[in-house]
Amino acid sequence: MALKAKSPKQQLLIGLLTCSATLFQAAMMPGQSMPLGDWHQHLFSPAAAKLAPGLHPVAARDLVNLLDAAGIRYALVLSVAYQLANPNKPALANEYEHVKAENDWTSEQVSEFPERLRAFCGVNPLKEYAIEEIHRCAGDRQLHFGLKLHFGNSDVDLDDPQQVEQIRRVFRSANEERMAIVVHLHPSVTKKRPYGKREARIFLERVLPAAPDVPVQIAHLAGSGGYDDRTVDRALSVFVKAIKRGDGRMAHVYFDASGVCGYGDWKERAAQIAMRIRQLGVKRVLYGSDADPKMPPREAWAEFRKLPLSEAEFHEIARNIPPYMNKSRGNGGSLVSRDSARSRWP
Ligand SMILES: [Zn+2]
Repeated sequence: MALKAKSPKQQLLIGLLTCSATLFQAAMMPGQSMPLGDWHQHLFSPAAAKLAPGLHPVAARDLVNLLDAAGIRYALVLSVAYQLANPNKPALANEYEHVKAENDWTSEQVSEFPERLRAFCGVNPLKEYAIEEIHRCAGDRQLHFGLKLHFGNSDVDLDDPQQVEQIRRVFRSANEERMAIVVHLHPSVTKKRPYGKREARIFLERVLPAAPDVPVQIAHLAGSGGYDDRTVDRALSVFVKAIKRGDGRMAHVYFDASGVCGYGDWKERAAQIAMRIRQLGVKRVLYGSDADPKMPPREAWAEFRKLPLSEAEFHEIARNIPPYMNKSRGNGGSLVSRDSARSRWP
């Protein structure tokens, strides 16, 4: 209802009221808040940076500066140790030593900012040392929180039953150690591996049941950057349907939206991406920016905000705290207190 002024005094009063209401609205505008955390980040040691042309080392201090610039408090740092065992790149002598060194470097870096950063161990799950490395990381003060697997960089082929068995062993080991799992599910783009409903179903039916007790975060909304409706959307549709029918295997599964907005032809697919986020449920969707130097956390959030979601939906995604942030063990401590963290995850 519009207010109608009869006298100049009333006009002034109404003006003031309207102005303060606008200010109040702006202060309360939920979508304007920055996310609490960037739940998909990486650091790059000098050794890891050398592997990719144009990539520069990124230390914990650098990441914290980017988070500060964005007004973001926390980040989940996913060790890129698996990149030192990438079959699409020339093999390194003493590969496992390099993998351990990268995980240890990441652990050391993150330990400089225990109030801000949390680290996950990285390993190529197909390597003979994969299980050994998971157990070794489980004993590390920083890395015991979880495990990052990159099916693309590790060339995991879910259409190969033997590989599925090995991935199940890896998931079981992480589950035993109560390590959460972040998985880049999309297979190798370089090798042009098939991807879609079939692979997502294998993951849902064969792989997920091997880690029933830990949170599993599927990276990039099940894609590998941008949003390709021919493959990524088909894969994602399998998870959407499983959630809709109340499939218990999805109860502990989350999705990070890193690397989606701002890449490829995502804008044409913005409505579809927003629809999928709603179908997954905003409480399962986590913000992430994925360490792209061209799109730091602040800019990545601005891109993400271009999706046709409501302010309330952006607000909810911004406030989501994944459950692995609450895991504590001995002196490892908990970044987010039980009081401040919401425990309403499905
Ligand atoms: Zn990543």
